[in-house]
Amino acid sequence: MKTWYRPVADEVLVFERAHAQRLPVLLKGPTGCGKSRFVEFMAEQLKRPLITVACNDETSAADLVGRWLVRGGDTVWQDGPATRAVKQGAILYLDEVAEAREDVVVLLHPLTDHRRQLFLDRNDEVLTAPPEFMVVASFNPGYRRGLKELKPSTRQRFVSLQFSYPPEDVEVEVLTGETGLDAKQAKRLVSWAAKVRAQDSLALAETVSTRLLVMAARLMRAGLPPRVACAATLVQPLTDDEPTAKALQDLVDLCF
Ligand code: ADP
Repeated sequence: MKTWYRPVADEVLVFERAHAQRLPVLLKGPTGCGKSRFVEFMAEQLKRPLITVACNDETSAADLVGRWLVRGGDTVWQDGPATRAVKQGAILYLDEVAEAREDVVVLLHPLTDHRRQLFLDRNDEVLTAPPEFMVVASFNPGYRRGLKELKPSTRQRFVSLQFSYPPEDVEVEVLTGETGLDAKQAKRLVSWAAKVRAQDSLALAETVSTRLLVMAARLMRAGLPPRVACAATLVQPLTDDEPTAKALQDLVDLCF
């Protein structure tokens, strides 16, 4: 099935040109705003395989490159996702790259600059990436601010695209296009989101994402009453604090 993506600005053009010029791309932005969907869409557009790695604080260079494994009595080398991606001329998507361990950054530098080389721990082998290969990384600057940052020396290797929650009319289109919900209901969801995003006083760890709105829209499309759908997909996922939940639910009642 073809991946559906509603472009928001000139991200498609920038990505296409970056790929053609063999430049890596960094997608910055909060969770659930369409970064992964965009990469899936672009991989299809460019007809390249997509290999995704969800990075966490234990993700190491060996996880990406590969390692020796003991199988039976033998030691066999197993390629990791970065090695497979280089060999296939794929798009390697490192989701939440700032979470990964420091040695991942060390590995990325020669792979993302003019050298386009990946160093394998196997007989000191060096792979040179084919022209179609591309590194894409995502990074959420607001997430746990201060704890995990990308160093300027890493950031300045990437063409960067800022993602954010789309403008209201586009977000309505995303909801209707993605779920088949009618535009009137989708507008109500988006106007609820706009109110929540504008209220700093709610002190949410992260504000409402397009992903949550899509979930709400799906349940409404499936026939759940809006108030019930919104409580389960918007209010409860956003907070465990009762007064905050009440404030969010009051806003739902206002919009529906
Ligand atoms: P991220 O990678 O930024 O955390 P995702 O790409 O997983 O977020 O987006 C979450 C969901 O939001 C997607 O599954 C999709 O339903 C929807 N979405 C967000 N933006 C768009 C868009 N521009 N076009 C189509 N769907 C979108």
